[in-house]
Amino acid sequence: MDEIARALTEVVNSLPDRVTLVAVSKFHPAEALMEAYRAGQRVFGESRVQELLAKQALLPADIRWHFIGHVQTNKVKALVGRVSLIESVDSERLLNLIDAESERRGVVTRVLFEVHVAAEDTKTGFDPQEVLDYFAQHKYHSLKAVHICGIMGMASHTDDRERISADFRAIAAVFNQVKEMCPDLTGFDTLSMGMSDDYLLAVAAGATMVRVGSRIFGQRT
Ligand SMILES: *Cc1c(COP(=O)(O)O)cnc(C)c1O
Repeated sequence: MDEIARALTEVVNSLPDRVTLVAVSKFHPAEALMEAYRAGQRVFGESRVQELLAKQALLPADIRWHFIGHVQTNKVKALVGRVSLIESVDSERLLNLIDAESERRGVVTRVLFEVHVAAEDTKTGFDPQEVLDYFAQHKYHSLKAVHICGIMGMASHTDDRERISADFRAIAAVFNQVKEMCPDLTGFDTLSMGMSDDYLLAVAAGATMVRVGSRIFGQRT
């Protein structure tokens, strides 16, 4: 068995059944994704629109593509209709642009709200309070062609496992509060958090989706 298939199998076997694995393939060539595909992987995460579209053209049609990077507003048109989930919606403005473009194209776009709890202020995302306010005001009722499926987040970039776990619990708390506040929000069931070095901590904190890259594909160049 090749390296990628072996590493993938190890990650898959470490996950409970309820958790979806997103294989983060950014910066790796289509052949690397194909190795993971042959080993059974169907969900792939990319962070740049052009790179995603280029790989999509080369790879099997039953792959479910997740967009996990910052979405520039001028890339919304290229992305809508091409992906199974946009995990990284980080502003209402972006959300409304995706909604308008999806309606125009006659498709429904599934998204996650990216929430920012990490220590670094360089990372993008809604503040937890912004997310809670959005849902408390039931603003999602005005969406025409976007389905909000849950929350995505990242822990602080640190070796402090306690801090990482605390960040994951904070992200999970936002997810659970939204669910409680909005029982009419059907299909709000996805909590995407955890990467190569911390995905088991994320699973312990309630993640239903993890995004693992370098542990499967090796270091990015
Ligand atoms: C790159 C990336 C990942 C995967 O990171 P690894 O450490 O390689 O597992 C996960 N989530 C997001 C948002 C990323 O940009």
